[in-house]
Amino acid sequence: MNPAALARAEIRALKPYASARALADSAGVLLNANENPWPPAGDGGLALNRYPDPQPAALKARLAEVYGVDESRLLITRGSDEGIDLLVRVFCRAGQDRVLVCPPCFGMYALSARVQNADVIEAPLIEVGGQWQLDTAAVAQTLPCRLYFLCSPNNPTGNRIAADTVLELARRVSDHGLVVIDEAYIEFSDSDSLADKVGLQPNLVVLRTLSKAYALAGCRIGAVIADPDVVDLLRRIIAPYPLPTPSVSAALAALTPEALARQQDQLARLERLKAALLEQLELHADIKQVWPGEANFVLVRVEDAQALVQDAFAAGIRLRDQSTQPDLDNCVRITVGSEEEMQTLAEFLRDWQP
Ligand SMILES: *Cc1c(COP(=O)(O)O)cnc(C)c1O
Repeated sequence: MNPAALARAEIRALKPYASARALADSAGVLLNANENPWPPAGDGGLALNRYPDPQPAALKARLAEVYGVDESRLLITRGSDEGIDLLVRVFCRAGQDRVLVCPPCFGMYALSARVQNADVIEAPLIEVGGQWQLDTAAVAQTLPCRLYFLCSPNNPTGNRIAADTVLELARRVSDHGLVVIDEAYIEFSDSDSLADKVGLQPNLVVLRTLSKAYALAGCRIGAVIADPDVVDLLRRIIAPYPLPTPSVSAALAALTPEALARQQDQLARLERLKAALLEQLELHADIKQVWPGEANFVLVRVEDAQALVQDAFAAGIRLRDQSTQPDLDNCVRITVGSEEEMQTLAEFLRDWQP
């Protein structure tokens, strides 16, 4: 089944807003968008007086290359947060369609679903022998959902979900739903992206972001990789000019071959810093459990998560209490930072007693 047929009828019938930049290129004498003809102070050659290209061609081409997908399968968004929101709004009829989440997980899936008044169905991950994994039996037993959100490596547990498991679910639900795999942390892990499987499995959607491994959280650039018809539907409801020119410029700079080589160095550095952190955590008397995971963070369990977070706060270190998530009572997520930051953390942990 063509996954676009699962979209809300109103969206399928919608005639998208045609912005000036979408109707014509930005060459020649530009008198079609009521812009100011003069660049602002501090423009730095960006032509900020002009509206940006809705899907900047150079960035689109480069991202398609980096992700190894056809441009027709790529939509650039304001972070993957926007991708999640667009998917929910295009595919879920308020008060009727359901969204599956597998907590403990990223909170935006359920939040976007609730804003759209889509029911949130939970199939919690299970922890077996220190490993978090998808409860495939529980997922199989849920009521049919329109969107199935999975995350690999998962935030905050760090586990990955095997490609076969994701693809099998996508095949099984293809008559009524889309499987969305959030790969925000894939660059930190050894696993391969499922981006190149979207062509074979049209109800599979992959979310990528430049916020984490590409060090561009402040730029808000993400990508939805999906069937071309799904991309077309998402484009109908995205804001007319979603991508600010400075963000696009910074993203292009972060995707040059030299920048990518530097990124590889950073990833290796973070891996070493993470290994050192894990060593200290394993030896710490007051850390009861450690889930190393495959991302740029680790999850730990202590006697009293609030005490750890507050004591760290007093030492100038911010950690994230995860206790409100199912099965994560007294769990804290620790991001792997720079050498200096990890040194500060190490000194704090050395002296810390609850
Ligand atoms: C950080 C994160 C993102 C990234 O969101 P952006 O909007 O791209 O910054 C997406 N998914 C998960 C699970 C995350 O942890």
